[in-house]
Amino acid sequence: MAIMDLPIPKVEGKICFDAESCFLEAVSQKISIIDENVLKVLNSYRREICLEIPLRKDNGEIITVKAYRVQHNNARGPFKGGVRIHASSDLDEVRMLSNLMTWKSAVVNIPFGGAKGAIAIDPYTLTKNELERLVRAYVHNLGENIGPHTDIPAPDINSNAQIMAWFYDEYAKSHSTNALGVVTGKPIAIGGSAGREEATGRGVMYILREVAKDLKLDLKETKILIEGFGNVGSNAAKLISKELGGKIVGVSNRDGGIYNPNGIDVFAAYEYNMKNHTLKGFPGCEFVGSREFIFLDCDILIPCALENTIDDEVANKTNAKIIIEGANGPVTSTANEILINNRRVVVPGILANAGGVIVSYFEWVQNLQQFYWGVDEVNTKLERILVSAYENVRDLSRARKTSLRQASYTIGLERVANACILRGIGY
Ligand code: GLU
Repeated sequence: MAIMDLPIPKVEGKICFDAESCFLEAVSQKISIIDENVLKVLNSYRREICLEIPLRKDNGEIITVKAYRVQHNNARGPFKGGVRIHASSDLDEVRMLSNLMTWKSAVVNIPFGGAKGAIAIDPYTLTKNELERLVRAYVHNLGENIGPHTDIPAPDINSNAQIMAWFYDEYAKSHSTNALGVVTGKPIAIGGSAGREEATGRGVMYILREVAKDLKLDLKETKILIEGFGNVGSNAAKLISKELGGKIVGVSNRDGGIYNPNGIDVFAAYEYNMKNHTLKGFPGCEFVGSREFIFLDCDILIPCALENTIDDEVANKTNAKIIIEGANGPVTSTANEILINNRRVVVPGILANAGGVIVSYFEWVQNLQQFYWGVDEVNTKLERILVSAYENVRDLSRARKTSLRQASYTIGLERVANACILRGIGY
């Protein structure tokens, strides 16, 4: 069967992401267990839920809000993946992100499948009460499609521990047994895990440390640019600075970023951003718009914002030698090709940002066994899993002379395909 005849993951609409080409490439790397039938299963989505929720605003007006949950594959364990709250989310985006979650759990070898959810509204246009009612309605409408052994949501863009607390509470109202494992990323006071809040950023830091070790880079002398200063970007920035002594020359958020080639005090920048809701005006730094920011001089670029921010133009102009995807799908497929042709090292999100779902796994395990671990135990376990996954990917990429992305997909695809085959394909 020619590669071009193979069915490919169906991703339509505005989202352009690289799983498609990697999928084909990984298959062409001769994963012998994957045949046409297995591919049909891997390319299909088990369940797609589309909701339109009527929300009563505090002033009595009713608005309707679209919301989604897509469950891609559960061959290796319950569906798992975050819920984002973002005005531009749609079914195509959620599909793509659910697909990525399947490979992410597989490449780091935790026993989950892939899913994703979204509520398509700008949460900053809602009051806290309106947001709570909306989240509760979303949970209520998902009904029995979620559960500790079925599908386990978690935070993603614009969703946090408080939202996960409402999520859990709404589900628990109609489930009398221990339901803590229905959602992860909860506050520690109600079954959250130590270390979950910073886990994705911590994982990015471990990956950077390992890449730097392999490439013999001195991070104190290396210019690091971080796009996105939300949960992932800000925690990555603080940990890279504190634990690796890395020199961070730029950080950005929605309205633009700050830059200083001699390095930025990211702890002070974080406080400033929390207080002023912008980085503009932070002392000792140049402020530039978000698009301009991404082209700034650096050795390492860590995109931690939305999809597709690294397009062809960025790929051609950036002088970053290393790109670490803290976000999901920040590099478009054509930009990925340009970067690889220009001999840049790109660590894919399914590996680099897996720290969050790994500690979600720990939270779920702690909830089920009702026995909790300290933060050092969580961090040590996270480090062990992530570093070993990185080493496997790196070794495969060296052995087969492929990119880290292709090696990651090869490992992930093989694990999911194997589980599908062992369980038996089709009815
Ligand atoms: N939303 C995060 C991700 O994209 C975390 C998912 C989870 O913990 O289930 O990986």
